[in-house]
Amino acid sequence: MYEYKLMCGIVGAVAQRNITEILIKGLQALEYRGYDSAGLAVVDSEGKMTCLRRTGKVQSLADAAKTQPLLGNTGIAHTRWATHGKPSELNAHPHLSTHIAVVHNGIIENYESLRNLLIHRGYNFTSETDTEVIAHLIDWQQRQQGGSLLEVMQPVVAQLSGTYGVVVMDSRDPARLVAARSGSPLVIGCGEGENFIASDELALLKVARRFIYLAEGDLVEMTHSSLSIFDGQGNAVQRAETAPQAQYHAGDKGLYRHYMQKEIHEQPLALQQTLTDRINNGKIDFSELGSDIADRLTNVQHIQIVACGTSYHAGLVARYWFESLAGIPCDVEISSEFRYRQPVVRANSLLITLSQSGETADTLAALRLSKTLGYLASLAICNVAGSSLVRESDMALMTKAGIEIGVASTKAFTTQLAVLLMLVAFMGKKKGRPEAVEHKIVHALQTLPVKITEILTWDNSIANLANNFYDKKHALFIGRGELYPIAMEGALKLKEISYIHAEAYAAGELKHGPLALIDENMPVIVIAPKNSLLEKLKSNIEEIRARGGELSIFTDKAAAFNESKGIKTIQLPQVDDIIAPIFYTVALQLLSYHVALIKKTDVDQPRNLAKSVTVE
Ligand code: GLU
Repeated sequence: MYEYKLMCGIVGAVAQRNITEILIKGLQALEYRGYDSAGLAVVDSEGKMTCLRRTGKVQSLADAAKTQPLLGNTGIAHTRWATHGKPSELNAHPHLSTHIAVVHNGIIENYESLRNLLIHRGYNFTSETDTEVIAHLIDWQQRQQGGSLLEVMQPVVAQLSGTYGVVVMDSRDPARLVAARSGSPLVIGCGEGENFIASDELALLKVARRFIYLAEGDLVEMTHSSLSIFDGQGNAVQRAETAPQAQYHAGDKGLYRHYMQKEIHEQPLALQQTLTDRINNGKIDFSELGSDIADRLTNVQHIQIVACGTSYHAGLVARYWFESLAGIPCDVEISSEFRYRQPVVRANSLLITLSQSGETADTLAALRLSKTLGYLASLAICNVAGSSLVRESDMALMTKAGIEIGVASTKAFTTQLAVLLMLVAFMGKKKGRPEAVEHKIVHALQTLPVKITEILTWDNSIANLANNFYDKKHALFIGRGELYPIAMEGALKLKEISYIHAEAYAAGELKHGPLALIDENMPVIVIAPKNSLLEKLKSNIEEIRARGGELSIFTDKAAAFNESKGIKTIQLPQVDDIIAPIFYTVALQLLSYHVALIKKTDVDQPRNLAKSVTVE
């Protein structure tokens, strides 16, 4: 069974070095899942256990960890998504009972009767969680029967009903972790002379390369040098070792109605995967390019981007970024035009091609043509390793979005933007931009998976907004600056899957023609976060209102729009300007998706379209 519930996380470690930082980094890799509090417990070789918990972000846990010594070679950590008891420090995990510490994902359904039983036996509960019963049950069982943690865990899990991925530590036996799984995934990561466990291998990619997925009902005991796994009947078993697995179960929609919906919701994970390993100590790490080639990038004086469709829109956003953040002149062109236009090549120009499949016929032809024109080098940004575009380019940066099945591109687009933004930081540094620019970009990128998780919770309000559109024949999308290409992408998505004719305009262009179209049958969708162009955009909005236009404004609190007749607003969380194009894209994807749902179109395979455009 696949786990689609993107919440809560577990990380555990047994090593011969201090593991506090590994635990915190692991939790950070799981932040995209959404959670309300975080905590960890570590134990040193003398059996001294320290536990720290905080509500809110993992960063507040990390900050608190800096102010007190947290030493231990063994530890467990957790991000909680509250099911039983409010989000609070007392309810955050780990939960303790004398020498025992427990982290748990899932729900113990019979916790009430167990709680009453344990209170009767004299236990004091310090939290409102279902999880705390596990800690006290283990303690009780140990007092009754003695024996190792593994031995007492067998009768304890037999008393639990519900779902659990649980990892347990005993401070009197500090070089060991025991874990059990039922209905909530756990994966072991094997390092060199150390072992780890987590709810998702993403948490362990920095410390382990070999993984063992536990099966339902498994119980495992691990030290830094040994692993013993037992099935639900208590028999010792071997489970297969795997290399890092594909994170996406591409052939299965799971609980989602459409692949497109699934792929929209996979974006926090897709972005996290695309960023992981490429950001180190606050800097972009593109060592995957190889040092020779990366050195050639120092000579780049101009960038030419070529792409089609949605990828073309990613290129248009990148043009704003390359010029404003890296100071590198950049042009963007549709592949089918570029290939027949006899373009004049600037000195030291880098050709960047963008394609989800890497087989887009026009883009491939443009790449092949470019080789005869004297570009400095070619770089493909692509989602399919081994595709023609990747093989035929001098270098490639992969988007790690996983297979995209919905014809209308979603996660491939946002991960393209993330790679482009990393490239902007990387190239900017090569061109002598101050380090602060790279830091600013890296910082903004690191907030992205969590921010996208947040915007997905706006699904219902956006679904309500969709009711205003489904019966319209046309729609206009407007934006300014790097949000103008996002308006174009929003319009394309609406056309593709709901068959409503939609156009995008740079807001300043309205009075040069399209204002003539405005009436109550022409809904106008505006992307208007608080930024340096907001005042200009507000004037454009007034122009539309004065002509009876109906506006739907995607905005944030600081932009201070009020709903009134003819104006609907979706007020989203505030994000850094740098990542606003990626953030607002997701809102527009949800809008098109919900309009298409109401119109009952074929969301995943819209009429007349194909996923990989391998013909000219
Ligand atoms: N049911 C547990 C709680 O409310 C665990 C929730 C989770 O999976 O994070 O604390």
